[in-house]
Amino acid sequence: MKKLLKYILDFLLPPRCICCGKINSDDNGLCAECFNKITFIAKPYCQKCGMPFTQTSAINKNMLCPECLSQKKSVFRLARAAVKYDAFSKKSILALKFMDKTENAHIFAKWLKLAGGDIWQQGADILIPVPLHYTRLLKRRYNQSALLAQELGKLTGIKADISSLIKYKATKPQSSFAHRNARAENIKGAFKVKNPANIKGKRVVLIDDVFTTGATAKECAKTLRKAGALSVDILTIAKVYKG
Ligand SMILES: [Zn+2]
Ligand SMILES: [Zn+2]
Repeated sequence: MKKLLKYILDFLLPPRCICCGKINSDDNGLCAECFNKITFIAKPYCQKCGMPFTQTSAINKNMLCPECLSQKKSVFRLARAAVKYDAFSKKSILALKFMDKTENAHIFAKWLKLAGGDIWQQGADILIPVPLHYTRLLKRRYNQSALLAQELGKLTGIKADISSLIKYKATKPQSSFAHRNARAENIKGAFKVKNPANIKGKRVVLIDDVFTTGATAKECAKTLRKAGALSVDILTIAKVYKG
């Protein structure tokens, strides 16, 4: 019965490639052409922040990038992303964010589940999306990261908590600042944990669409750790990096 229903639905509303919109029935949501254009992040990468090693970068025995190696203390445990943020992945992510392509959240959640392998292995208790300020939420009507967390929750069986972490300060879009320090300054103190009891002692996985400098994710992680989270991992669809 379920199969028949899917057959009828596929006939009426055929699944489309999330990148180019062509009719496509591939499980990963991409047609063969777009699949070849998108860069899925694969090993070897930094064991901590997930930054791919280039052919020229020296890989030390701890499998850490120079930045993670030089940092003694870090606000997050692991960071992982499914794909490289470039012109190809950007198109489909922007569609999820601004063009009501909310059905694509299910496809992205599959990517997140795969990219988060190391996180699931180390253990995770709760999925929390990077929140939007309510004024932004009113305008956009949905938070793309909350959709991702909910879909990922269904796939992994890990609870998605979309209300404990809130953005209580409206900030300028991070995209209006180029420099890392300016981004960190802009987002500082913008988040708050509404129900610390829900967070306390939990291994949190923070969910977002894009990891650029990490300023937003790290500020969320800091807020969650202050509220008593045992650890915070960062899982995003895409990651910005050179190379
Ligand atoms: Zn395509
Ligand atoms: Zn690293």
